[in-house]
Amino acid sequence: MKKYKENTIIIGGGFAGIEIAEKLLKSGYQSNIILIDKNNYNFFPPLLYQVATGFLDVSNISYPFRKFFRNHPNFLFRMGELLEIKPQENKIILNNGELTYSKLIIATGTVSNYFGNENIQRNSLPMKTIVDAISLKNTILERLEKATQTDDLEERKKLTTFVVAGGGPTGVEIAGMLSELRKNILLKDYPELNNVPFDIHLIDGLPTVLAPMSKASQQYATDSLKKMGIDIKLGQLVKDYADDIVYIADGTQIKTKNLLWTAGVTAIVFKGIPEASYGKGKRLIVDAYNKVAGTENIYALGDTSLMTADPAFPQGHPQLAQVAIQQAALLSKNLNVEAKGNSQKPFVYNDKGSMAIISRNRAVADLTAGPFKHFNGFFAWLIWVFVHLFSLINLRNKITTFFNWMNAYFTKDQPLRMIVKSDPRYEN
Ligand SMILES: Cc1cc2nc3c(=O)[nH]c(=O)nc-3n(C[C@H](O)[C@H](O)[C@H](O)COP(=O)(O)OP(=O)(O)OC[C@H]3O[C@@H](n4cnc5c(N)ncnc54)[C@H](O)[C@@H]3O)c2cc1C
Repeated sequence: MKKYKENTIIIGGGFAGIEIAEKLLKSGYQSNIILIDKNNYNFFPPLLYQVATGFLDVSNISYPFRKFFRNHPNFLFRMGELLEIKPQENKIILNNGELTYSKLIIATGTVSNYFGNENIQRNSLPMKTIVDAISLKNTILERLEKATQTDDLEERKKLTTFVVAGGGPTGVEIAGMLSELRKNILLKDYPELNNVPFDIHLIDGLPTVLAPMSKASQQYATDSLKKMGIDIKLGQLVKDYADDIVYIADGTQIKTKNLLWTAGVTAIVFKGIPEASYGKGKRLIVDAYNKVAGTENIYALGDTSLMTADPAFPQGHPQLAQVAIQQAALLSKNLNVEAKGNSQKPFVYNDKGSMAIISRNRAVADLTAGPFKHFNGFFAWLIWVFVHLFSLINLRNKITTFFNWMNAYFTKDQPLRMIVKSDPRYEN
């Protein structure tokens, strides 16, 4: 459905893409708003690890774009993947066609970074998308089933040993969730695995877990993970993973079938954008108004952008949901004021702080304002629960997630452990 002559095309319907599309539509911006995403749904990455460990259902943290943006006559959704941009022709090439734009907004986030190691890319289990989370859940559950079926002790140990590479919030959260699974569910559901070790290792190249957070948060997280029986190895990189062996830089080898990869991300390079427009982490260099360097009408938002003009963040902003949301909100305002011929406002990130959950009743929170700068334990956990609940996309997802969390909290269990896989016959 096309109402206007101009097409504002947004690539990627994550935090930034959804926010700017919604704000432009609500502000009456005089342009068709075309959202393109390779999936037909938005999802909430901070809770992926709960889907991966069977504590939340996919539908709790995702929502279809077409339903979300219904009833806007100037909105159009197109499922497709951006491959190339032709700035001279104001044209984008998708995997399933091409479109022309008046303004292009790139909000494609990041993908897992394997630092060029093909073995790790091929054999490890990433956790970046809904498909990753479902695959990880299926794999964990299948490995436990296999462990119940083998008498080969070495094989069984490999099936029930988990190595998490990356001690950032995602690595800490997934290690914590695996420990909950071991403590509260394993022996109830898999009595055959009584006395079988279920080892969890967390490895990071930096000297601490939760590197971007305060020292108090790092210490609390380290102590909590150790108390939960998680083996932590810091200051050591995972170098390789082949033949069911994780090779660590200090020479240690861990035999396992399960290497979970949360060790890094990188942005995506699109053909057609000048090479000089890409900076560290392949992020698109943008000015204070999120316009991509060397382009006229192309903008980049969120994780895929690198802005060094914000005085408090000369190396660029952290790749966080709030940065993406705030940049998107300001760009929608700036596009509106620009259309009226008024002057635009440069972006300044309002950093409210950061949090990470470790396990039931244990979390850490660092705040930037107020008299208390650091919380941990139950109170931080409670803040984490409410912040994440209120950040979900709509009331339906908030209510269903709340219900699943309450169920899991009071029963210390959750019945979402079905192995459901697609049949290759149905793939396209
Ligand atoms: C497991 C995990 C946990 C996290 N936890 C937290 C947290 O607790 N707090 C926090 O602040 N941040 C967290 N983050 C980071 C946060 O999710 C990102 O900062 C945020 O999602 C960035 O928003 P974005 O809009 O830039 O990109 P995204 O939200 O990643 O959205 C990108 C969108 O682009 C689409 N896309 C990608 N490539 C293409 C293409 N070529 N063509 C079409 N569509 C494409 C994708 O399908 C996706 O919908 C977490 C991230 C992960 C992976």
